[in-house]
Amino acid sequence: MSAMPSKDHAAGHEAYDVVVVGAGFAGMYMLHRLRGQGLKVRVYEQGGDVGGTWYWNRYPGARCDVESMQYSYSFSDELQQEWTWSERYAPQPEILKYANHVADRFNLRGDIQLDTRVDRAAFDEAASTWQVTTSDGNTVTAKFVVLATGCLSNARMPHIRGLSDFRGKVYHTGHWPHERIDFTGQRVGVIGTGSSAIQSVPVIAEQARHLTVFQRTANFSIPARNAELTAEEREAFRSNYPEIRRFAREEARNGIYAEMPDRGALDDGDNARRAKYEQRWDRGGLTFMLAYNNLLLDKAANDSAASFVKEKIAEIVRDPETAKRLQPDDHPIGSKRICVDTDYYATFNRPNVTLVDIKSDPIEAITPNAVRAGAKDYEIDALVLATGFDAMTGSVAKIDIVGRAGRTLNQKWAEGPKTYLGLMSEGFPNLFIITGPGSPSVLSNMIVSIEQHVDWITEAIAFMRERDLGAMEATKEAEDRWVAHVNDVAQMTLYPQANSWYMGANIPGKPRIFMPYIGGVGVYRRICNEVAAKGYEGFVMSAAERVERMAAS
Ligand SMILES: Cc1cc2nc3c(=O)[nH]c(=O)nc-3n(C[C@H](O)[C@H](O)[C@H](O)COP(=O)(O)OP(=O)(O)OC[C@H]3O[C@@H](n4cnc5c(N)ncnc54)[C@H](O)[C@@H]3O)c2cc1C
Repeated sequence: MSAMPSKDHAAGHEAYDVVVVGAGFAGMYMLHRLRGQGLKVRVYEQGGDVGGTWYWNRYPGARCDVESMQYSYSFSDELQQEWTWSERYAPQPEILKYANHVADRFNLRGDIQLDTRVDRAAFDEAASTWQVTTSDGNTVTAKFVVLATGCLSNARMPHIRGLSDFRGKVYHTGHWPHERIDFTGQRVGVIGTGSSAIQSVPVIAEQARHLTVFQRTANFSIPARNAELTAEEREAFRSNYPEIRRFAREEARNGIYAEMPDRGALDDGDNARRAKYEQRWDRGGLTFMLAYNNLLLDKAANDSAASFVKEKIAEIVRDPETAKRLQPDDHPIGSKRICVDTDYYATFNRPNVTLVDIKSDPIEAITPNAVRAGAKDYEIDALVLATGFDAMTGSVAKIDIVGRAGRTLNQKWAEGPKTYLGLMSEGFPNLFIITGPGSPSVLSNMIVSIEQHVDWITEAIAFMRERDLGAMEATKEAEDRWVAHVNDVAQMTLYPQANSWYMGANIPGKPRIFMPYIGGVGVYRRICNEVAAKGYEGFVMSAAERVERMAAS
């Protein structure tokens, strides 16, 4: 493949080798790797700065729930040795500072165009290039397009009657304002009880005169046990990073270095099992689910963990009615993303906090000064929508992506996303997705999955360039087999039993398909590596000159 000219002279458009959409952790690392190959790259980011998730989610209490020493890039040893995380789970401002540090350190900013949304990407079959149209009215051409648009970047605005009539301020956790919001003296309502609510409710409760939490589904949450990191703890990671990162990539299912379970929950007697859960509860965090190796496979095993957490909720929350409402009863523990909190359940012991069950008493309307549920008005001055995201496909679907023969990706995915390895979709040549549906993505430490995808895509593009190949595309057969495999693996677990955002169940009308790949990051990485080693098995690659001949004819 010859170097691209800087202008597509036929159309008068600026021409790039690669357009990357999004400047979160995925887009930034993608840019870094592609530039290392000498490619001409343009990154478009609709936000006002880099950082993605950590740019948008500035709500009180926002922090990561994978420990920071692991929720960080591994591609640069200097970076991981020199960056100092202050806490076990860094707060959002610190993670955003880290993203900015990476942008500066690797000199990325010059190739990132901020405040610019990609609205359309259309494949020009004759020229085998993408025409990318942005919100500033420009169109550029690119040989490759990489969607680094994020799995949790399309905030879900609920359609509630009267919402626009509300006289107070309305905030969405995923679009939080940049200035500090102080709820002191206010009556605040929070709608939703997923991860963002579970992080923000304890903080808002400390400020607000009164806080009313509107809960449709109770979620399981494990205490974070967040604390400042000591110099010794940081050093223990830094000096063992090669092994920690290797384990996270190759052996862990979820991309997290942790002690792995060697037995099922029912292999232990009652006392031993309880002791194990107590130990995991005391340690805190997501790895509670690694107490046993069958918690997401065997319902009886899962019930034992769920009962333990429900007992903890009953111990913490003094009012038995409220405790009961906070105990999840409609899904196996872990089948919805498990939450990690600081004092979430205890917050409901505060006299200024009320829990309203909107499953039994649905919200009927928002009035100018209240949320009306179960024929009762809960008066509020400010409303926080912690209603989550149109996950995994939402941001991709917002772009008008037109592939071969004028078929759009939205048409193709109308009944659920179809990809080969979560990386490409048949009919859309040279279009890659980072942590797309069909890959482990949201079931993992996302930075591990992001780095793996970016490295794989970089190598695939290098492979094509070395051989002067023009277009790469997943075959229908490989894609169908992969979609069936992703589904088969999901059906072997308890995950599909929950109405989760993994299933698209939080979005009315969205097809119910289990989107991420459950096989684990280690297994998945091996599959991707084998595919590449076999000359990109399941993909077709066509010669550049054939594409050019077709264009000329
Ligand atoms: C509150 C919160 C906490 C989280 N905590 C963790 C955690 O502890 N561990 C973990 O592994 N994961 C966590 N995640 C998941 C998190 O999204 C990923 O870890 C990671 O940040 C994703 O990076 P990304 O670059 O893929 O996507 P994002 O960070 O979402 O970045 C995508 C970017 O693409 C931009 N974009 C989208 N569409 C367009 C378009 N059409 N044109 C231009 N720009 C566009 C968006 O504006 C966004 O900035 C969390 C998510 C949330 C919301």
